Amino acid sequence: MTIAIIGAGLGGLVFARVLHVNGVDAVVYEREPSRGARGQGGMLDIHSGQRALREAGLIDQFHAIARGEGQDMRLLEPDGTLLLQEDTPDDAPLDRPEVDRADLRNLLLDSLPGDVVRWGHAFESADNGLLRFADGSSATYDLLVGADGAQSRVRPLLTDARPAHIGQNVVEVGIPDIDRTHPELAAMVGRGNYWVLGNGLSLAAQRNGDGRVRIGLSFYNTAEDWFATSGIPFDDPAAARARLIELLPGWDPRFTALIAACDDTVLPRSISALPVGLTWPSTPSVTLLGDAAHLMPPVGQGANMALLDGALLGLALAAHPDDVPAAVKEYEREMFERTGAAARMSADMQELLTSPDAAQKMLAFFQPG
Ligand SMILES: Cc1cc2nc3c(=O)[nH]c(=O)nc-3n(C[C@H](O)[C@H](O)[C@H](O)COP(=O)(O)OP(=O)(O)OC[C@H]3O[C@@H](n4cnc5c(N)ncnc54)[C@H](O)[C@@H]3O)c2cc1C
Repeated sequence: MTIAIIGAGLGGLVFARVLHVNGVDAVVYEREPSRGARGQGGMLDIHSGQRALREAGLIDQFHAIARGEGQDMRLLEPDGTLLLQEDTPDDAPLDRPEVDRADLRNLLLDSLPGDVVRWGHAFESADNGLLRFADGSSATYDLLVGADGAQSRVRPLLTDARPAHIGQNVVEVGIPDIDRTHPELAAMVGRGNYWVLGNGLSLAAQRNGDGRVRIGLSFYNTAEDWFATSGIPFDDPAAARARLIELLPGWDPRFTALIAACDDTVLPRSISALPVGLTWPSTPSVTLLGDAAHLMPPVGQGANMALLDGALLGLALAAHPDDVPAAVKEYEREMFERTGAAARMSADMQELLTSPDAAQKMLAFFQPG
C-alpha cells in the first residue's frame, strides 16, 4: 500500500504523522525546495485542531510553543470607541491559543522520519497509479491524498469546483520589533488580537511571536480586480502606506498611526473560497484534505479543519488497513459534515464582517444577550 500525500502544509503533515504513529508509511511530496524556502505567515488560532495534535502524540510539545496571552482581544470602532477588551489571565486554559504557523509546521516536520518529506516535487498530474512532477520525475501510488492547499492540482481529479473570489481584498503590512520601535503602539495593540471594524473595512492587528505586529486591512464588497483600481502603488511602499491612510477616511488618528509605522512589506491578498458544502462521489484511490477540500473565508477555521482532516483520515486508514475504499468513504462522510458546518459558520461570520455595523454585531456575537 503506497500512500502519496501532495503538500507539506499543516494538513498533509499531521496526516503523515498520525499514519507514522500507527505504523503506516507514507510519502509527502512538496513543491517548495526546503522547509524555509517560503515565509509561513503569521499566527494561527488553534482550537478544535488540538484534538489532531493529541492524536499525533504532540499535544505537550504544542502547548510548549502556544501563546495563551495571544487569546487577548480588543474590539473597536473606527472613531476609536473601545467596545470590548478581554485579557487572558495567566492561569487560563489554553482553549484557543495562538501559535506561530512556522513553529507548528516545524513541530510536525521534526516529528517525522527524515525521508518522509520529498522537497522540490511539484505535482503536475496523476494517472493509473502514476504521479508526475514538474521536474519530469514520477512515482507510484495506491492512494493519492491532495493536501495541496487553496489552488490544489489534485482537486480536479474529483470535482470541477474552483475557488471563487468572495469580495474581500486584504493588504498586509506590519511593524517589526514593535516593543522597541513603537512602545506606545505596542501598548495600544496589546498581546493578542486588535480589531477595528466598520464602514465595509476592517483592520486586524495581531502580535506575532517574534515581536512583529502583522496588520491586515480588509476591503469588503470589492471586486476581484480591485487592486488594479485601488490606487495603491505596491512597488512604492511609502506611497502605498499614504494611499492606505487615505482609504481610511474619518478613522481615529491612532489607527492611521499604526499604518504609518509599518515597514516596507506591503502585500496584496485576494480572498477566495470554495462553495459551502462541497462534496464529490467517493473514489477508492484519491481524496482531499484541508484547503484543497474546503477553502473557507479566513475567519479562524481553516487550519483547525485541515489538522482534523489529516488526523481523522490517518485514524480511518489505521483502523481499516485492508479496506482503503471503506476508510476513505468513512473519512469523507465525517469530513463533509464537519467542514460543511464550519464553512457555513465562516460564511455567516464573513457576512457579519461586511455589514456597516460590523463592530456592534461582533460585540453581540461575543456578548450575546
Ligand atoms: C491570512 C490568513 C490567516 C489565517 N488564520 C487562520 C487562523 O487563525 N486559524 C485557522 O484555523 N486558519 C487560519 N487560516 C487558514 C489556514 O491558514 C489554512 O486553512 C490552512 O493552512 C490549510 O492547510 P492545508 O494543509 O490544507 O494547506 P496549506 O497550509 O496551504 O499547505 C499546502 C501545501 O501544499 C504545497 N503545494 C501546493 N501545490 C503543490 C503541488 N502542485 N505540488 C506539491 N506541493 C504543493 C504548498 O507549497 C504547501 O506547502 C488563515 C488563512 C489566511 C490566508
